[in-house]
This record gives sequence, C-alpha cells and structure tokens, in this order.
Amino acid sequence: MRAWHVEAPGPVTGHPLRLSTTDDVPEPGPGELLLKVLACGVCRTDLHVTEGDLPPHRPGVTPGHEVVGEVVALGANTAGENPLGFQIGDRAGAAWLRWTDNTCKFCLRGTENLCPNSRYTGWDADGGYAEYMTVPAAYAHRLPGGYTDLELAPLLCAGIIGYHALQRAELPPGGRLGLYGFGGSAHLAAQVALAQGAIVHVLTRGEQAQQLARELGAASVGGAADMPPEPLDSAILFAPVGDLVLPALAALDRGGTLAIAGIYLSDIPPLNYEKHLFQERQLRSTTSNTRADAREFLAFAGEHKLAVTVHPYALDVADQALRDLKAGRFDGAAVLTP
Ligand SMILES: [Zn+2]
Ligand SMILES: [Zn+2]
Repeated sequence: MRAWHVEAPGPVTGHPLRLSTTDDVPEPGPGELLLKVLACGVCRTDLHVTEGDLPPHRPGVTPGHEVVGEVVALGANTAGENPLGFQIGDRAGAAWLRWTDNTCKFCLRGTENLCPNSRYTGWDADGGYAEYMTVPAAYAHRLPGGYTDLELAPLLCAGIIGYHALQRAELPPGGRLGLYGFGGSAHLAAQVALAQGAIVHVLTRGEQAQQLARELGAASVGGAADMPPEPLDSAILFAPVGDLVLPALAALDRGGTLAIAGIYLSDIPPLNYEKHLFQERQLRSTTSNTRADAREFLAFAGEHKLAVTVHPYALDVADQALRDLKAGRFDGAAVLTP
C-alpha cells in the first residue's frame, strides 16, 4: 500500500516526508480494527510531528489522525475491547487519542486526556496518511450522518479539539467569545458557539479567513492582535503564536478565561500582572480530549449541521498540503483522499 513516513523531521519546505508505495497492509492486533482509509484530514499537529516540533515517538511514523475509514478486518477481541460493536463494513473514525491505560488517577477521575501513558495516532502509531491503518476499537468513533467523508475528517480533531477548548474557555450562556486564529478548528468552534447563542469576535490575519468568519456570522472581524469592539467573557487562542497571549488576555473582561487550544505554542512574552491577569482573568491550556468529549461533539454535529470548509488533496501530495497549511494558503481544512 501507499503510506507517507516522517523520514527526517525538519522544515516542510525541505523533504521530511517520504511516500512509500510498497508498505504491507498492517495486521490488526488484539482489540484493533483495520480501516481502509476513505479520507484523512491534515492537522497542524501533523506539521509539528513532521517538522520535529514534537519529539519523534516512533521513527518513520505515518502522520494523520483525522481518519474516516471503513472497517475491513477485526483483530482477535476479548470482552470489552469493542464496546461500540464495530463490524466489517462499518464506517469508523480514528482520532488523535489512540490509547490510555485506564488505571492511572487521571483516567479514573474522567480526565483520560491527561493520562501520562496515553498514545496518539500519527505520533506513537501509524496514522491515516496511508491507504490502511489500525485503530483500537475502544478508541474508534461512530460518525454522524449528513456529512461526506471529506467533511467528516476535520471533525475528528479540529472539531473535537475546538469543542474541548470551548469547554475549557467556560463561555457563559449568551457570552462574548473571542477567537484568535481562524483555521480548521476555529471555524468549527465558532459554529458550535453561535449555535449555543454566543456572540463571536474573530481576530485573525488573512483575508480568506476573515471573509469566512463574516460568512459564518461573526459579530466582528479584526486583525490578529487587534482589540475586539467589546470586552470578552472568554477567548480561545488557536494560532500557535505565544505573542498573541498578551492581546487576548488584555481583551478579557473581569473574570474572563483564555484557553490555548494548541499542542504547541511559541514562547509567551512576559506578562504584566495588572494588564493581563488581575481581576481574576485566567489563562488555561487544552490537552488533547477525552473520548467522552469526542462523542459529545460528534453527537452535537449530528444534530446541528456544521459547515465544513474542505480543501481536497490527493494522498500522493500530502507534503504539498502541509506546505500550504504552513503558508496559510487556504482557510478551513485540507483533507487527503487515497
Ligand atoms: Zn491513565
Ligand atoms: Zn489534530
């Protein structure tokens, strides 16, 4: 089968990825599903894995963790390993969180996203920049109806993480939300917040992204570091730019919360207590998501049709998709099809 491998982590303007055409189709292990990949989203985290911002966990890993697939084989499975009852021919989604130990204190208290032994698709195990991949059945997702395969893929990370970040930002009902950066994740989080009655202000560079924000119903659209027209109850920083933490905190109303959505952020400049934190403003990170977050979001997406802006790329030009993502050449989400 065809599969991309991170051969030498480094800038995507070089050639960190190699396309193999002779890989064996993987064998599903105990409790795993073998998926024929129908679509795989291109996430900024893939860029961080490919460029080495995230330390390599598996040499030569195949990236990709927004995978819509068809179940074509099941490994041997014992009781409880296939809780959703996946069968051959079913469609299934594979997301970033691939495995947790289910025994540590974080797992036991319902925060498996913080499990220190967790493993991730497309980082610890091969992901969806390939024709086939495996996923533990207990971590695979049922997919909502009403969407194409291409539209479903970005829901599986961009959508889930945006949803989790929205929870972390503790937006009050009818509150004012600021979104810093407006790519694949933010354009989905914006629609969830709008459907819940929020007022959404978008702060981002890029004419296309600003246009998309207007079309989706943002109350205002400004430049990346601009002040929104009113104080914010909550904000989410999607751009991986530590410099933006300062204007985002300064834009918060008393008691407001800023959640950083990404897995990677450039360094945050020194904060001024009075200007950025006093009056009980809070700064929070977001780490992965639990399966419960994912299922809650996918159920929401089944009830509220989200507009997913998709840019299709053939699997064979995955490296170009990553270069375009890095350069900000599209808004919405790139999706690979085999
Ligand atoms: Zn754990
Ligand atoms: Zn992702």
